[in-house]
Amino acid sequence: MSKFLVEKLQSLSAYVPGEQPRDKKYVKLNTNESPFMPAPAVKSAVEKAAADLQLYPDPDCNAMLDRLSAVYGLAKDQLIVCNGSDEILDFAVLAFSDEKHPVYFPDISYGCYPVFSDKYSVPYVTIPLKDDFSIDVEDYLTQDGTVIIANPNAPTGLALSVDAIEKVVAAKKDRVVIVDEAYVDFGTETCLPLINKYDNILVVRTMSKSSSLAGARLGFAAGSKELISDLYRIKYSTNPYNINRMSAAAGYAVLDSREYVEKNCKAIIETRDYASAELRRLGFEMTDSLANFIFVTHPGFKAEELYLKLKDMGVLVRFFGKKRIENYLRITIGTKEEMDVLISCLKQILEG
Ligand SMILES: *Cc1c(COP(=O)(O)O)cnc(C)c1O
Repeated sequence: MSKFLVEKLQSLSAYVPGEQPRDKKYVKLNTNESPFMPAPAVKSAVEKAAADLQLYPDPDCNAMLDRLSAVYGLAKDQLIVCNGSDEILDFAVLAFSDEKHPVYFPDISYGCYPVFSDKYSVPYVTIPLKDDFSIDVEDYLTQDGTVIIANPNAPTGLALSVDAIEKVVAAKKDRVVIVDEAYVDFGTETCLPLINKYDNILVVRTMSKSSSLAGARLGFAAGSKELISDLYRIKYSTNPYNINRMSAAAGYAVLDSREYVEKNCKAIIETRDYASAELRRLGFEMTDSLANFIFVTHPGFKAEELYLKLKDMGVLVRFFGKKRIENYLRITIGTKEEMDVLISCLKQILEG
C-alpha cells in the first residue's frame, strides 16, 4: 500500500480470484469456466470486429441488445450490457445502496458482494444460510435495504423457486432485489418474467459460464426501464465504452448460436449427474447443485488436504477455507474425460 491511498480504501480487502497457475498444464476445475470452446460463429465475428479497432465501439451494444430483446422477449430499454456481470453488480451496489440502505446477502455466497459494498462504503449485512445451506426467504422480507440473491447460489449450487424469490420482491416494494443468475442455464427457472410485474427486481446474467465467453467479459442485466436507466447513468459516468468491439461481436454471435449453447448446458448437466454419482460412491456428501459445479465434503478427509493433493496431481479445484465451509470443495464440471481424471485421482488419494 502506498502512503497516498485514501483512508476509506485502506481497509478494503479485494476479491481473490481462483488461482490461474502457469507452472504446468492442469485439469482446471476451479473457476467455473466452460470446458467447451465458444460457438464457431464467435471466431469469425471477433476477427471481423478486430479489423475495425481504430474506431470506438457502439457504447450501447445495440447488436447484442437486439438479440437479447428477441431471445428473452424484453424491450431493449429493459436491458443493459456490461463488462462482465461483475461490473453490473458493482454498478447496482453503487446505484441502489447507501449508509441508510445497506446490502443484504447470505453469509455463504459470491465473494464480490461484500467487496463492492466495502469499496463504496456501503454497509452490508450477511444473513446465515440454514444448516443445510439453503436460503430461507422469510429472512429477507423486512429489512430496509438492497437484497442480493444468487440463484442458484454459489458455491452451494442450491436454487430457490421463482415463487420464493417473488415473495421477497413483493415484500420489498421500496428496495431493489438483485437476482444474480450466473448459473441459471444449468437447470434453474429464471426470474426474468417477474420484470414485467415488478419495478424493483434486477436480474443479472453472465455470458461467462454457460455461453463459454469468460474471456470476453460480458454480462447483462434486465429490469424495469427506470432501473436500467439508473445503471446507464453510472455506466456513462464510469467508462462509456465499457464493451470493446471484439467482445461485443462475440456476444451477438453467441446469441445467434442458442442451440450450440443449449447442447453444451445439457452435456454439463449430464456430466454433473455422472460425477456426483461417482463421488458419492467414494463417500463424498454434497449439496443438490443446479450449477456447473458441485459442492462436496468427505467425512473422512480434510478438504484442504484433498485440494492440495489434487493440485500436486495436476487437478485444480476451489478450496475457500472459510468458516462453515472449511471442509468443502467446489468442483467445476468439466468434460466427462476431465471428471474421470478427477475421479481417478480422488480414488488414489482416498485409498492412500
Ligand atoms: C462468475 C460469477 C459472476 C461473474 O461473472 P462475470 O460475468 O464473469 O463477471 C457473478 N456472480 C456469480 C455468482 C458468479 O459465480
